[in-house]
Amino acid sequence: MADLKMKKLKTKRYKCLDCGNEFQGIGKRVVCPSCQSENVEESN
Ligand SMILES: [Zn+2]
Repeated sequence: MADLKMKKLKTKRYKCLDCGNEFQGIGKRVVCPSCQSENVEESN
């Protein structure tokens, strides 16, 4: 029984400045999953 929980990757919260979608992203180049925009900002 593999208990694969979410690994502790450095997920940060982002907010898309185009559509207002809030999501979690990993890495440096984060795009909005909703509108594919790169116009996002971190929202801690
Ligand atoms: Zn968006």
